[in-house]
Amino acid sequence: MSTIPAADRSFGSSVQAAVVQPSGLDILPSRATSIAEAGKPGGPMNCGKTSVAGSVSQRACVFCGSRVVLYPIADALHVVHGPIGCAAYTWDIRGSQSSGPQLFRNSFSTDMQELDIVYGGEKKLERALLQLIAKHQPKAAFVYGTCIVGLIGDDVGAVCKRVAAATGIPVLSVASEGFKGTKKDGYKAACEAVFHLIGTGDTSAISPYSVNLMGDFNIAGESWVIREYLERMGIEVVATITGDGRIDAIRRCHGAKLNLVQCSGSMTHLAKKMQSEYGVPFKRVSFFGIEDMSAALYDVAKFFGSEELMEKARSVVREEVGKIYPQLRAWRDDLKGKKAAIYVGGAFKAFSLVRALRTLGMRTALVGTQTGDAEDYNTLREMCDPGTIIVDDSNPIELAKFCLEQDVDLFIGGVKERPIAYKLGIGFCDHNHERKECLAGFVGMANFGREVHASVMSPVWNFVPRRASRKAVGLDLASEPQSAVANPKSAMGRAVA
Ligand code: SF4
Repeated sequence: MSTIPAADRSFGSSVQAAVVQPSGLDILPSRATSIAEAGKPGGPMNCGKTSVAGSVSQRACVFCGSRVVLYPIADALHVVHGPIGCAAYTWDIRGSQSSGPQLFRNSFSTDMQELDIVYGGEKKLERALLQLIAKHQPKAAFVYGTCIVGLIGDDVGAVCKRVAAATGIPVLSVASEGFKGTKKDGYKAACEAVFHLIGTGDTSAISPYSVNLMGDFNIAGESWVIREYLERMGIEVVATITGDGRIDAIRRCHGAKLNLVQCSGSMTHLAKKMQSEYGVPFKRVSFFGIEDMSAALYDVAKFFGSEELMEKARSVVREEVGKIYPQLRAWRDDLKGKKAAIYVGGAFKAFSLVRALRTLGMRTALVGTQTGDAEDYNTLREMCDPGTIIVDDSNPIELAKFCLEQDVDLFIGGVKERPIAYKLGIGFCDHNHERKECLAGFVGMANFGREVHASVMSPVWNFVPRRASRKAVGLDLASEPQSAVANPKSAMGRAVA
């Protein structure tokens, strides 16, 4: 990534006022309007656009957005139509669990080669689908388009139709060519594909108190935890569409009375479609942190207008909070005043994490998302403490810059943020799809607190160059890394280069 010398920068005045840049790392001028600071005036953040060329965005591609949403449908076949590299992105990197079929853990690819690109890959795709369906007997198949397929113009939809007619199962094309937008467009393509299944199953015998879970990916069994809370209240969960998903449950999920949409970015499009086509209303919820988990259960009880359900929700919250609160208080004593950086996919998770960190006594010093919209960033500006840096669609240099300037003790992110944190000598907490630990629900808050406490309080951070040199020469921590980073030959400079 090229950086622009500070003297050559010409940011708009309102943005200039909102961005704090006292370090040796610079941001690209065209990125300035996508960065703000809580407590400082400034116009709406520039967001929801394709990434700036050359910025080396942390954001994933359209295809990744689609596969994130659909791969947890466990009894379906998932075929990536494209070069093997795209499929490598999917292979068993997720912590999504299934209570039954494990077919989704496989990543099938048509492995397109030069000849396929010259002569077209439709025949190869058709052969692959027929062979795989005969061998694995899936309930449905999803075929993901990738960049090269979009470029050469394979008619994936026509192939899917032929294979569906030949095999008798739904074969759905996911229009997820990587280059055609943002990760959010991938979510939308996934919603469009799965919508074809909805409305094709029998809805008789569905309880008047029933919901679907959308946008929870059953990472480390999280959907099961939420399902259990809801069932204790007497709520039937018809389909957990995006976590431990089943084709038959999705076919009948239009019979549920309410859609609970977590991870607002990924499933809101489907929820809106179900509302207009089937009259199923939806609520945006989050299952992370005590406050948001409790609010989600109360919102469900309120929706059904039943005092009995509300009392059951209170009882679940009382019981579960009682189990974890003493331990959270103990961790809070140690963590008080520590600072965290958050970089996640969706804004709803960011909101929950800001609150959950407060529960642990910590302050959010940097928060960013891949797919937030203007309203989301306004909410973050309001809810974060003054001085918190807020970024949309960030990149490694920016994240390193703000982590150093804010001197954070912890970085919460995903697989792409982990190396940034470790190279800077900062504790890391994985809150993305690759993790293997349940962080949702009340039990998840306890796991989160344990992990944050263990990471932040580890004595190992005293030995990283940044902290060690501060101790040795009595430097102010906020200024020491800047000179180190400005010098590309220094250890820190090499780490963020
Ligand atoms: S779809 Fe395109 S951007 Fe996405 S992994 Fe494949 S080649 Fe890369």
